[in-house]
Amino acid sequence: MNNAYLNRVFEKVKQRDPNEKEFLQAVQEVLESIEPVIEKRPDLEKSGIIERMVEPERMITFRVSWVDDQGNVQVNRGYRVQFNSAIGPYKGGLRLHPSVTLSVIKFLGFEQCFKNALTGLPIGGGKGGSDFDPKGKSNNEIMRFCQSFMTELQRHIGQFTDVPAGDIGVGAREIGFMYGQYKRLQNEFTGILTGKGLSYGGSLARTEATGYGLCYFVDEMLKHKGESFKGKTVVVSGSGNVAIYATEKATQLGAKVVTLSDSNGYIYDPNGINLEVAKDIKEIKRGRIKEYADRVPGSVYTEGRGVWSVKCDIALPCATQNELNEDDAKALIANGCKYVAEGANMPSTPEAVDLLKSMGVFFGPGKAANAGGVATSALEMCQNSMRLAWSFEEVDAKLKGIMQNIFKSAIEAADQYGSADDLVLGANAAGMLRIAEAMLCQGVAY
Ligand code: NDP
Repeated sequence: MNNAYLNRVFEKVKQRDPNEKEFLQAVQEVLESIEPVIEKRPDLEKSGIIERMVEPERMITFRVSWVDDQGNVQVNRGYRVQFNSAIGPYKGGLRLHPSVTLSVIKFLGFEQCFKNALTGLPIGGGKGGSDFDPKGKSNNEIMRFCQSFMTELQRHIGQFTDVPAGDIGVGAREIGFMYGQYKRLQNEFTGILTGKGLSYGGSLARTEATGYGLCYFVDEMLKHKGESFKGKTVVVSGSGNVAIYATEKATQLGAKVVTLSDSNGYIYDPNGINLEVAKDIKEIKRGRIKEYADRVPGSVYTEGRGVWSVKCDIALPCATQNELNEDDAKALIANGCKYVAEGANMPSTPEAVDLLKSMGVFFGPGKAANAGGVATSALEMCQNSMRLAWSFEEVDAKLKGIMQNIFKSAIEAADQYGSADDLVLGANAAGMLRIAEAMLCQGVAY
């Protein structure tokens, strides 16, 4: 980083939180990429915009105690980081995974601010979750955990304040348990969570939105290069919500998706993923992806990482942060991969991103490429406020339009700041400037 102002800001963040490696990684990536913007906008330094953006407005940590099926008391730590509300109520998911720390939640909350701004919708940035591990827990244990988690969280959220959603480990079941508890405690029926079931205020197409949106975004990347999904081979990692619906849409658009994975290993199906089987394993039986190879002839299961060694034209990392490293990037390049777009948040390490970009791989960063989920959550908030429900087709058409606009904003900003086709710069610049304009209007509290 050459810019003195950005260096000062980053040094201060490092000094404050030296052990928050995921958060530092996310901040560094954004600050490095916005250097050309800062050079052209000295007023941002004068108003202290960047130092304000890297410090959350509010961070809440709390005890979540619950009783397991054996009658033992268990204690987890809950988090909600309310990062930036310049353009709307805090919005961002809740993650339940043993790897959750304050650093992870802060990195996700920081990224969420820019992503939400890019959608063009009135939503600020936040994120939350807990180090609770849902794997192997019974339905009743999940319910008791979610109720205890919401017993504390309810005092910090609200339809005009902060509207959480799902993320890793939080799907329709967990949102339902949390919503029920909120309603019991507050005695009101308002849209305080998104990703709700259709019977109580959820939006059609929210389940599909992140994966579908990712493919709409990649479709724009392909069109920009005069290509399309037709006949392309796609490697997808993960087998959760984002991975499943990215696979569905890429297949509908004419591509062949040949892999899915989880934290144990990956499956390769040269005939293209059979989604009926994949959905049955993951969404109904809540099983492991390994079972796919037992059920679909011709497919192979490989234990461990290695999904990026499979030959493809397009790679879509849809599992978790830092799952695609420099060696993986080398393998993708050697196999002729031309497009990488992030369904997950920060799945590619900085070294991998640099290498991919330098070797001419067209790279779509998560902030832009996976924004379809939160955009559709904002559409759910809109329907809740109106007490109306739109059809699947209406929501899907709006989602597609939003993804096309995100691509347009990012590619234009990349051009404007002198780095054609650099969607990392473009997405960060466009998102950051929208928040900055609002912060400049709203003044500083002394
Ligand atoms: P799910 O919980 O539905 O699925 C997560 C998938 O990733 C599972 O297959 C899981 O495998 C795998 N995974 C999780 N942690 C690891 C790990 N440490 N190593 C390898 N694999 C891992 O989550 P989502 O699909 O909702 O989210 C996936 C990513 O997309 C996350 O980064 C999330 O933040 C991001 N995202 C999600 C959005 C949404 O709307 N759901 C919106 C925008 C971004 P296993 O079962 O073995 O843990």
